[in-house]
Amino acid sequence: MKILYYHSLLQLKYPFAISKFARTSTPVTLVEIHYEGLIGYGEACLVPYLGENHQSATCFLNQLDLSKFHFPFDFEYISYYLETVAPGNCAIKAAIDIALHDLLGKILNKPCYQLLGINPVDMPITSYTIGIDTPEIVREKAQNCGDFQVLKVKLGTKYDKTIIQAIREVSQLPLYVDANEGWKDKNYALEMIVWLREQGVVLIEQPMPKDMVDENAWLTEQSPLPTIGDEAVQRIADVGKAEGVYSGINVKLMKSTGIYEALEMIKEARRLQMSVLIGCMSETSCAALAGATLAPLCDWADLDGPFLISNNPFQTPQLLNGKYMLPAEPGLGLVKI
Ligand code: MG
Repeated sequence: MKILYYHSLLQLKYPFAISKFARTSTPVTLVEIHYEGLIGYGEACLVPYLGENHQSATCFLNQLDLSKFHFPFDFEYISYYLETVAPGNCAIKAAIDIALHDLLGKILNKPCYQLLGINPVDMPITSYTIGIDTPEIVREKAQNCGDFQVLKVKLGTKYDKTIIQAIREVSQLPLYVDANEGWKDKNYALEMIVWLREQGVVLIEQPMPKDMVDENAWLTEQSPLPTIGDEAVQRIADVGKAEGVYSGINVKLMKSTGIYEALEMIKEARRLQMSVLIGCMSETSCAALAGATLAPLCDWADLDGPFLISNNPFQTPQLLNGKYMLPAEPGLGLVKI
């Protein structure tokens, strides 16, 4: 078994702004695990605010002992082993996990969703993200959302209502809202949520800072819309802490260290009767299709990463009526271009 990797910068079609930062590109590390003529593809999306970068990814990969990855893959053990290499480094761990799932599918000649016993018929629609921008750009993006049937709007600014009104001038699609911790007062947050519900918003992601636990819990109790913890929920240990604080959790493979732990998080959320949104970063088709494999287990999906970048090294995933069509090919069904 051999690992190859290369670093790249994904260029965003539009500069991406949320309530905390803006950027025009995202560093990724793409991983290939070669085994008996087959290649498993994996991806680490190294969003700057989570603390990983090309250097940390290289350092982690150089410490790997490949003899730990023998077929048949024991993902519980592999997850444990990756933790022993170094703490943190969630995205590059996800790249290994995704590549091994893709490879396993190719070895067994089955698509990943079949390996995991997931029925693609239950696929939810996926949202198209509109970052914080001028009303003109917001309108333009809302009008040019292709096959998407729901928009995800980034808020947490002083002009949130202006952004929503700009969208409503051109689109009547349902909306998800992500405040990215931008609202700092619980009464203001509740007022906004009540107003947003009247505008056709169906869920609210991370309304207030994750450290405001009591305030988020109060808001969830009062809120007419489900609240979803994202920044507050990174890994499996965070799911139980989110119970009673949010209605649901946002699972992302780059936070969960990949498919194996994401699946554990979804199961734990269901045990606690919480809802689940599966999200993504500015990713290529590789990590997005890995996320889409789990999407049929979730209530909502936000997997638009490959549609927001201009230099995807893989074929763009196919959507039908706003839903991912999971490829029937072995593994993740990725095609390099
Ligand atoms: Mg979010």
